[in-house]
Amino acid sequence: GDGTPREIRARPRVSKEDILAKYKSDRGDNKEQLHMVVIGHVDAGKSTLMGRMLLEMGQVSKKTMHKYEQESKKLGKQSFVYAWILDETGEERGITMDVGQSKFETNSKSVTLLDAPGHKDFIPNMITGATQADVALLVVDATRGEFETGFESGGQTREHALLVRSLGVSQLGVVVNKLDTVGWSQERFEEITAKLSAFLRQAGFKESDVTYVPCSGLTGENMVVKPTAAELTSWYTGPCLLEVIDGFKTPERPITKPFRMSINDIFKGMGAGFCVSGRIETGMVQPGDRVLVSPLGETAFIKALLVDDMPIQVAFAGDCVSATISGLDQQNISVGYILCDPQRPIPITSRYQARIVIFQLKVPITKGYSVVMHHQSLVEQAVVSKLVAQLHKSTGAIIKQKPRCLTGNTIALVELEVSRPICLELYGDIKELGRVMLRVGGVTIAAGLVTKIIK
Ligand code: GDP
Repeated sequence: GDGTPREIRARPRVSKEDILAKYKSDRGDNKEQLHMVVIGHVDAGKSTLMGRMLLEMGQVSKKTMHKYEQESKKLGKQSFVYAWILDETGEERGITMDVGQSKFETNSKSVTLLDAPGHKDFIPNMITGATQADVALLVVDATRGEFETGFESGGQTREHALLVRSLGVSQLGVVVNKLDTVGWSQERFEEITAKLSAFLRQAGFKESDVTYVPCSGLTGENMVVKPTAAELTSWYTGPCLLEVIDGFKTPERPITKPFRMSINDIFKGMGAGFCVSGRIETGMVQPGDRVLVSPLGETAFIKALLVDDMPIQVAFAGDCVSATISGLDQQNISVGYILCDPQRPIPITSRYQARIVIFQLKVPITKGYSVVMHHQSLVEQAVVSKLVAQLHKSTGAIIKQKPRCLTGNTIALVELEVSRPICLELYGDIKELGRVMLRVGGVTIAAGLVTKIIK
């Protein structure tokens, strides 16, 4: 036979066409899924804002809330109570996901928060979150002097915005936060939005894809309901934060493309076989499917699929799933591997070209420069083997062919050589798998899109 276990062969299979036809009606009642990353400078109020959001959206029980209130009073840190909510949900989930996940629902969407903003040193987590994000919330602190600190070079406001944009995120909600500290000043709001919109336009965000919303995560003003404070209603008539999130366009789920799922975690399941979890980037998968494990080159069977701990019969692009697999030794599989369609496998390469956005650098990039490359959850050693061209920051046109070196705050085309073959897609084919991140000594020095697979 073809190695298919009998119980799987005997199972009646639903054709892909039928599944596609049913896709809409089956999920018609369900809300569109949106993966959102929260970015911004340290202390901008990200944890407070999102902790409060989860609370207001009924994601935290009264009992838990009471516990937090008592604890924070004891410590004399009442203002931290909301941030704790996020830490707690992050910790509980953090066991199996490298990025803490929390969910809430708007009118039309089921929103998954990707990130762990409760932690001060959260750049690595933010990157993992950003590579999976559909949209981003950029939180800035409106307090006088604080916005400026975050926006200056060395602050994280610009770096985070550039990072998510270079990772393909095009829609941005900008939360002008802590506006309570400046008496809800319209002038301050406009000063900040003017500075940001000039920068964001340069960073490649379309004006129509960026929405600015005045907020206070601490008082909760203008978060889930329209504002009531006279200082704000006197000049602001726009949407509240929840409406901004509800208004994001959900990206088209690439369900008709070949199946790809990146493995974020591997763990022992119940009974035979073992489990892998991750997000389905493209296509769909069903229990009984035979999948190729790349770059390993062996096939395996999907025995069962779980979404949110519930068994399901089919999973689509955009779903985060746990899959029980068999027919493969657990020793042979690693985090960062990709499960894919054996008929239309993912390209495997150790040399490729990428368009990279270079952040701040201590040492300029020259030929042979060593980096740690992140692709989805894969981490590999690589070198910059060729400097192809330096590009214009906003137009992308070639400024210089074959530069001798590349400095910080520039954009370039480079060739990268990885220490061993890895799975990669062209950004133009499957953008979810065509993004990379380059780090040196624990610092992100560049983010890039795969433009050519060389071998
Ligand atoms: P993060 O580092 O971005 O996650 O910021 P936190 O949520 O930890 O908040 C940093 C500090 O700012 C804390 O002391 C919060 O209590 C305070 N804070 C957060 N949001 C607001 C706000 O809307 N108004 C005021 N006045 N303070 C806030």
